[in-house]
Amino acid sequence: MARLLILGAGIAGHTAALHANRLLGREHEVVVVSPNSLWNWIPSNIWVGVGEMKPEQVTFPLKPVYDKLGIQFHQAKATTLHPEGDSERPRPYVTIESTEPASIGRIENIAYDYLINATGPRLNFEATKGLGPAHNSFSVCTATHAAETSAALDETVERMKKGEKQTFLIGTGHGSCTCQGAAFEYLFNVEFELRRRGVRDKARIVWISNEPELGDFGMGGMFIRRGGYITHSRIFTESLYAERGVEWITRAAVNDVDRDAVAFETLDGERSSIQADFKMLLPSFSGVGLKSFDRSGADITASLFAPSGFMYVDGDYTSKPFDQWRPSDWPEMYQTPRYPNIYAIGIAFAPPHSITRPTFSPSGTPIYPTPPRTGMPTGVMAREVAHAIVNQILGRDRPAKGASLARMGAACIASTGVSALKGTAVSMIVYPIVPDYETYPETGRDLNYTFGEIGLAGHWIKHLLHFGFLYKAKAKPFWTMIPE
Ligand SMILES: Cc1cc2nc3c(=O)[nH]c(=O)nc-3n(C[C@H](O)[C@H](O)[C@H](O)COP(=O)(O)OP(=O)(O)OC[C@H]3O[C@@H](n4cnc5c(N)ncnc54)[C@H](O)[C@@H]3O)c2cc1C
Repeated sequence: MARLLILGAGIAGHTAALHANRLLGREHEVVVVSPNSLWNWIPSNIWVGVGEMKPEQVTFPLKPVYDKLGIQFHQAKATTLHPEGDSERPRPYVTIESTEPASIGRIENIAYDYLINATGPRLNFEATKGLGPAHNSFSVCTATHAAETSAALDETVERMKKGEKQTFLIGTGHGSCTCQGAAFEYLFNVEFELRRRGVRDKARIVWISNEPELGDFGMGGMFIRRGGYITHSRIFTESLYAERGVEWITRAAVNDVDRDAVAFETLDGERSSIQADFKMLLPSFSGVGLKSFDRSGADITASLFAPSGFMYVDGDYTSKPFDQWRPSDWPEMYQTPRYPNIYAIGIAFAPPHSITRPTFSPSGTPIYPTPPRTGMPTGVMAREVAHAIVNQILGRDRPAKGASLARMGAACIASTGVSALKGTAVSMIVYPIVPDYETYPETGRDLNYTFGEIGLAGHWIKHLLHFGFLYKAKAKPFWTMIPE
């Protein structure tokens, strides 16, 4: 009997657990460790953040699903990896610390044959002074944060109804943030909501971001075919901002969030600040801080994890100029070179380099987006890694498919307003995610499969995806028919 241990039950870990369990049957064990008892469909948090949904509509308890499927679940956080075991325990193991209210803090060691690190990001609010719900800004990164943000939005709207003007600042709260798409969605949902609540005329809405230009989204932007010509996502996005009366500040690293103002530095070295009443600014992401030790107890964390805390996998991490990066530098199997039975998927793996060109202010502050690892590619890599591990456990000699972001497309539907008849969403498909100038010399992407459009249909699809992915995550009948 083999044991697959999965750390994290987000989109990556949960998808891998469902597929591995389905393929392995009861002869082998799938064990999941995650500190949160709830599964969260994170993309719908933005709707919680504007009061369109409640946290209960975007979360559900994991344990009943795992009990039904025969997956072991530990509500705990992993703290240390011991890939060689130690003098007392010959098998590789992970130390976990319980977060379950009845046994909080209890330490346990779980042995494994195969390990998937799917621990996602640590929300690194501390990297920016005054950032985050504990200080002076809001977040939609968790369902709880989003509910707090929604309550604050209601209070702000009440003030506006009494005649006060308010400035909304929405975007990224650090020079090296990723996930611009999430902040973009929240921005336009707030704008839509203010119109619906009849107070749009009292609002100044400003976008702030570390992107070199609007429409970059951490993917270096993209070109799309429209009406017979080829246009950049910057044009498409700028036109949306102009149409909805949203101002923008790009190339900015937020460095201090005060109660009433936000200070930032721009790529040209200028330091400014902007007055803001309501601030939703995303934090930068880092790894969750797992440590690792070899058989003798020596700390080997630096050989498994990048300085960002994300895990090295089968990518090329050698340092080279941006123009020399190749599609083949991106990982295929998400397998760590030093320990082939350890994998890292979703946000937990270390990207070999940024997709957007790295840029620094005169004082050396990095101001550019780090690569996004959105839901669809995260689900695909989780499924492929689960297949690869299952094939090894079952002794099947099948070629591994791989899931390189340089050979994979991504579809992303970004909500820009919730309403059955007046809602809109931007639907984007990009292929491949990492531009491949060897195959597509002009734009780095296949223009037959790279697409962007805004409209009501996108809103309906986004809404259906919400229900579809929750259904799938609950492993209800025929869940495998719903693609990642
Ligand atoms: C507000 C928002 C909106 C978004 N909207 C979209 C969208 O519309 N479309 C899209 O494609 N993507 C979207 N994304 C991105 C998407 O949510 C991520 O791609 C996805 O969540 C990544 O999955 P993951 O499993 O790697 O990380 P997560 O989903 O964050 O999961 C990580 C898991 O690891 C657990 N964990 C943490 N620490 C430990 C530990 N020490 N030990 C064990 N477990 C641990 C966590 O509790 C969690 O269960 C959005 C992101 C945000 C923040």
